[in-house]
Amino acid sequence: MFSLSGQKTLIVGIANEDSIAWGCARALRAQGADLAITWLNAKAEPHVRPLAEQLGADIMMPLDVSQPGQVEAVFDEITQRWGRLDTLIHSIAFAPKADLHGRVIDCSAEGFSKAMDISVHSFLRMIRLAEPLMPEGGTCLSVSFFGSSRVVDHYNIMGPVKAALESAVRYASAELGPKGISVHALSPGPLATRAASGIAHFDELLNNAASRAPTHQLATIEDVGAVAAFLASREAKNLTGGVHAIDGGYSITA
Ligand code: NAD
Repeated sequence: MFSLSGQKTLIVGIANEDSIAWGCARALRAQGADLAITWLNAKAEPHVRPLAEQLGADIMMPLDVSQPGQVEAVFDEITQRWGRLDTLIHSIAFAPKADLHGRVIDCSAEGFSKAMDISVHSFLRMIRLAEPLMPEGGTCLSVSFFGSSRVVDHYNIMGPVKAALESAVRYASAELGPKGISVHALSPGPLATRAASGIAHFDELLNNAASRAPTHQLATIEDVGAVAAFLASREAKNLTGGVHAIDGGYSITA
């Protein structure tokens, strides 16, 4: 129905084959997109580089958004190699373990700002650098979770962090809509990934989601990738600012 042929896409957040970003990378590549893929650091590279090579990524490089200059280096490379960008996919989040496992009201100031910087502000920094590379419009996606708007046991400080991410998506979409740049959050139901393994009692969340969701199916990274690919297409250009649940209907149930 739609093609992403030749569309230039930056995908940040692949750690391994379970990553939501990997589901997105595969789906966009299958529709013809050209990819730039990053990995966190030298320890992550042996896990991510083979995946990037498997999809024939044009650009492969490290990116730790907490390291000064690394986001800029990725966008410099994109400017030199491609001269433009059509789609940005930001699929990263972080909170220090002690803060993630504690009560929200006990979260340290340092942990709070680190979680907000890596999980939210880095998306804004990337959108700002993407803007001049999207003169004819484009799409910026990040990944949120239902714990942003409802209290989900053990999700703790990531709840307020995802609430901020979703609000940032709305403001950025209002600011960039006139330029044809759409901004969205995808909101998958719980998925067994490496980041998820840092959340206490995550198995209970998976079981609960599967039993409560009207479809009784957990979301898959393929489900997320399919929605990401559509939102990246020009056919979706009049959609912006949304938080798109991809969760078998889990979030509509009481
Ligand atoms: P994942 O562990 O596969 O991916 C998380 C990624 O964040 C990793 O690639 C990691 O390297 C990256 N990251 C962390 N700190 C970084 C930094 N400083 N710089 C650059 N990258 C950094 O897990 P995932 O579940 O695919 O997570 C992707 C996104 O999806 C996250 O925002 C997460 O909150 C969100 N999400 C996950 C679920 C779930 O149940 N797994 C549900 C909804 C939303």
